[in-house]
Amino acid sequence: MMSIQTRFTDLPPLGPGNTVRLLTHEFTGHESARSAYIQAGLHADEHPGLLTLWHLQEMLVDLHQEGRVLGKIVICPFANPVGMTQNVLGFWTGRFNLANGENFNRNFPDLIPMLEAQHIDNSAVLSEQKLQAAINALPTTDTVSALRKALLSEALQHDVVLDLHCDTAGVLHLYANQAQRDRATRLAACMNIDVVFLEHSAGGQPFDESCNRPWNWLIDQGLSSQTERPFAASIELRGQADVNDELAKQDAKGILNFLASEGLLRLDDQPPAKGSPQVYPLEGASHLPSPGHGLLAWKKRPGDRVSKGELIAELVPIDASIGTPRIPIHSDVDGVLVVQPLFKLVRAGQRVALLAGIEPFSNRRAGQLLNHF
Ligand SMILES: [Zn+2]
Repeated sequence: MMSIQTRFTDLPPLGPGNTVRLLTHEFTGHESARSAYIQAGLHADEHPGLLTLWHLQEMLVDLHQEGRVLGKIVICPFANPVGMTQNVLGFWTGRFNLANGENFNRNFPDLIPMLEAQHIDNSAVLSEQKLQAAINALPTTDTVSALRKALLSEALQHDVVLDLHCDTAGVLHLYANQAQRDRATRLAACMNIDVVFLEHSAGGQPFDESCNRPWNWLIDQGLSSQTERPFAASIELRGQADVNDELAKQDAKGILNFLASEGLLRLDDQPPAKGSPQVYPLEGASHLPSPGHGLLAWKKRPGDRVSKGELIAELVPIDASIGTPRIPIHSDVDGVLVVQPLFKLVRAGQRVALLAGIEPFSNRRAGQLLNHF
């Protein structure tokens, strides 16, 4: 007997009289022990994934009725109920915790110290149980730490973990670990994603890294293997304004194709993967800073190929004297333009583009690869 279950998890309140809860929908089949976990909106101002998961749930209900759900699929339709309260003067500000300025997708717990502490006396225990014991030992002091613990604890019970994000304005891209290149490129092909960033260690403990790092440790200790480890990736569903049914359905179908390729679903009409993903080292990603204050006039669009030294935009200095030339902005990589800002007014030093370069930058260091903002 298969089932669909909705589960509520209460988190410590943000203040007196307040309640915060997470919810998950579980679609369970009984033909496979494999499972997947998918969440959206960890950055609460990124909304394409919320609509994608709504469509994914609708599709899963049908597939479930047809007996096509083989393993277990858990959906968390909004992963950050705290960020979703942060509407400030009409704007959603869900990337950072307004209480302390912390990025909601950084500083997830590092389980390695807990694993090291328990290693000596229970080396025969299964990897999954070791991880749950480690996470159970984490203290929770406030709503957000309890939220991080709840999300990570759920994720670590699954073979596939997908974290849905978006950037400001851009094309589909994804971030995954170098050790999982094959699954990352298969996911990208299933979803028609052209740009795949792979890293050994991004640093900063975002959610996907917090899932991956303890497995690196287990494998290094000889306690697990690459074939056993779950797959965790962050999928960037274009830009913040790209929230519509057409794209969301397309992305939900792409996710279904990937879940089918992982043995979690049986699909008859699985189209051949159309994508031709190109892998880029995260060390080759360029967060190009603005040379000054002004308005961006773009010469390129997200998805366009660029070469080093090529003009990609001009900065229009609106406070200079009439006749002052625009400041050219050039690509610093051979690769592709992935992301632009949503708003075209920029300040000096602000990121004007994310570019994917084929060659790693010599000054980028593993463990310090994410843009802090
Ligand atoms: Zn995000």
